[in-house]
Amino acid sequence: MVCRRDAQARAWIFLAIHDTTLGPAVGGTRLRAYASPAAALEDAMRLAQAMTDKWAVLDLPFGGGKCVIAPDEPLGVEARAALFLRYGHLLESLRGAFYSGVDVGVSPADMAVVARATRHVHGVDFADGSTVDPGPYTARGVLHAIEASLEVAFGNPDPAGRTVLVQGVGDVGRPLAGLLAEAGARVLVSDIDTERADGVAAEIGGRSVAADAALETACDVFAPCAIGGILDGASVDRLDCRIVAGSANAQLAEPRVADRLHERGIVYAPDFVANGGGAAALGLIALGEDESVARRKVDGIGDTVRAIFREAEAAGEPPLRAARRIVERRLAGRRARRGLQSGG
Ligand code: NAD
Repeated sequence: MVCRRDAQARAWIFLAIHDTTLGPAVGGTRLRAYASPAAALEDAMRLAQAMTDKWAVLDLPFGGGKCVIAPDEPLGVEARAALFLRYGHLLESLRGAFYSGVDVGVSPADMAVVARATRHVHGVDFADGSTVDPGPYTARGVLHAIEASLEVAFGNPDPAGRTVLVQGVGDVGRPLAGLLAEAGARVLVSDIDTERADGVAAEIGGRSVAADAALETACDVFAPCAIGGILDGASVDRLDCRIVAGSANAQLAEPRVADRLHERGIVYAPDFVANGGGAAALGLIALGEDESVARRKVDGIGDTVRAIFREAEAAGEPPLRAARRIVERRLAGRRARRGLQSGG
């Protein structure tokens, strides 16, 4: 864990490395205001663990890490660029223990500034300085997770004619809403930025729903693509849907919410499985793979979700538990191989 107070920008930086069994830690950098430094620190640790889970399920050679930057006050353009440059030097000083990319509140342009100080970034092409936005890849992976969930809930993966509510129409939610509309779904969108929600609804021929009504709006699929922790002991009972599948990290306030979803007959595609598309694509590109390889990996998310649903059904348990077992198997397998190598 690296904790740093950036005095010039008056911002906390919490960089958490959770597990490096599978490879060097890779995770996004998030910039937002928090109620307290402790809340920012906790978020960094929770999100770093989610990255360990994500890479393990994707079966890619990276470990879990995340960085949270929490400024006391909103940053001006120059202060922001200077902060990201100093952050780049911080990453460089870690000598490859942590590679980062964009997350909520951080844009590809910010990462281009970071890349002036270090090569330990994903999503920047060092040959020409161009950047790759993970959002559309993540959206594509979520679409596949939704199709796999529709198949389990209704016996048919086709989104055509299904009602899908996308909560949060930012970098992921907006392209997801577009893909769903193209596939013939009835798309409802909701965002605390009502102008943005109305704009996306008009763009895709959908309808916008007030942000505070999103949870209880009747739909086939509720796709959380905004913030984490939205489903807790109380809010889970307000849902009026058959499926929860979206991109938001750490959607469940606590793991036992998965049991309640299961009891209610709501199919839940575990977030760290459904939302791995952007990480997978940028990770593979950073490993030198072609974009077509990255796309195939993203398109494989549907099959991973199907395999998890099958394993969960066979064991009569929530899919979250089956997904966690995959993570544990992959980490244990890698530790065992390492043990054999060092023993031999
Ligand atoms: P973003 O900041 O671009 O968009 C988030 C949107 O949600 C914004 O439009 C914001 O106004 C809205 N929002 C915030 N709080 C809300 C609320 N309470 N109700 C309704 N709308 C609300 O973020 P993003 O990159 O689209 O990511 C969305 C979620 O998906 C985040 O949880 C992120 O961690 C996760 N995620 C993103 C990626 C990616 O590739 N960008 C990958 C994996 C996971």
